[in-house]
Amino acid sequence: MDYLPLHFDLRDQHCLLVGGGQVALRKANLLISAGARLTVIAPQIDPAFLDKLSVGMHTIVCREFMTEDVKGQSLVVSATSDRVVNQHVSETCHEQGIPVNVVDNPDLCSVIFPAIIDRSPVVVSVSTGGQSPVLTSDLRRRIEALIPEGVVRLARYLGGRRQRLKTTFPDIDQRRRQTVWFLGSAGATAAMAGRDAQADQVLMEDAQPSLGEVYIVGAGPGDPDLLTLKALDLMQRCDVVLHDALIDRRVLDRVRRDADIIYVGKQAGAPSTAQDQINHQLVTLARAGKRVLRLKGGDPFVFGRGGEEMEALIESSIPFEIVPGITAASGCAAYAGIPLTHREYAQSVRFVTGHPKDGVVSLPWEEMVNDNQTLVFYMGLGGLENICEQMMAHGRDPDTPIALIANGTTEHQRVLIGSLTDIVDQVRHTEVGRPTLTIIGQVVSLAK
Ligand code: SAH
Repeated sequence: MDYLPLHFDLRDQHCLLVGGGQVALRKANLLISAGARLTVIAPQIDPAFLDKLSVGMHTIVCREFMTEDVKGQSLVVSATSDRVVNQHVSETCHEQGIPVNVVDNPDLCSVIFPAIIDRSPVVVSVSTGGQSPVLTSDLRRRIEALIPEGVVRLARYLGGRRQRLKTTFPDIDQRRRQTVWFLGSAGATAAMAGRDAQADQVLMEDAQPSLGEVYIVGAGPGDPDLLTLKALDLMQRCDVVLHDALIDRRVLDRVRRDADIIYVGKQAGAPSTAQDQINHQLVTLARAGKRVLRLKGGDPFVFGRGGEEMEALIESSIPFEIVPGITAASGCAAYAGIPLTHREYAQSVRFVTGHPKDGVVSLPWEEMVNDNQTLVFYMGLGGLENICEQMMAHGRDPDTPIALIANGTTEHQRVLIGSLTDIVDQVRHTEVGRPTLTIIGQVVSLAK
């Protein structure tokens, strides 16, 4: 993390603002709205400051900045257009360990101002680490659209009930579940509308089932932006996550901070967790009252063994939900520019898996040689040579193009394109990476 966001309590704290122009004035407004006691220092000060600072415990000093000015300040902001002054302010503060912000100059800052959505007590801060103020405010605008107006009342309502909630639900997990459930209920709507008595009836009532539940969720092929809204929502609500090797780190970063994260990956050549054991773990955790998120690469029902996990849950009468995800074939094809079907080139697409045994993949080859069918192989590269040989032996045109897509949709995506005759040779001379998806068919020629 480049910057740790903290929300600073500036009420009645001394803050120094160096600069007396329009930029400084904007910062003055912000600091005053946070309750700071402001000292403004500059040789020339915009008359607008006089109106702003005439009420309250603020001070205006009409002269150049001096080193001693930072003494006793909780925060210093330099908003001048003079590089030498900005530098001087920054160095003085760094030497004395006082947080300093120099407007529009992240290199001189120890703290930076985020873009904020102020629905106090709810405050959302957004930052791009000083990289792009325009991007920051664009993100802020988008987030703002997601936060309902009633959140102010809701936050105050919940703040006022904290103590009572603690007494009614002494167990922290139970209290959290109750509140999460409340937020999704009509009680929250009542609180937002100021109908507190009605909200209380819902919040304080122990309507929570003690049995947990399991969400079998597809996390998509890698790019975290390909998560569904539903997946993200459940990632924020769960108590524990069980995930495969295919789950990208950046996807896991979006799971609720205090959820337990358990790796149950199966990877060739590495220690793996048996499927039975995973099924058992899902059942045990749910019986202990947890909201369990089973996070799977791609789609859970496409070569994901989601079906087996579902059966285990049904057998044990555990409530569950399946959430689809973007499967590797869709994600990789889109990011590599290969349409899986095309009016002219392919009228059908077939998803295939098959694990090579001694290099030999056993599949119904005669069904797969039709030139108008795209084939997508979900498997490592172990069987590639055998697949190409079988396709040609069963009559598929040796010039049929083939694409290998490794780490599809992620920043490490690599695409290797060849034909049935030369791809194996290409792979011998290239480090392809994994996981890898193979697409065979005329549509591959469209990638370029
Ligand atoms: N349920 C998953 C597939 C699991 S099988 C889904 O719907 O996508 C595992 C295989 O999927 C891998 O061997 C590889 O062939 C493919 N795969 C999954 N993610 C991939 C990615 N990001 N890039 C390339 N191939 C991927």
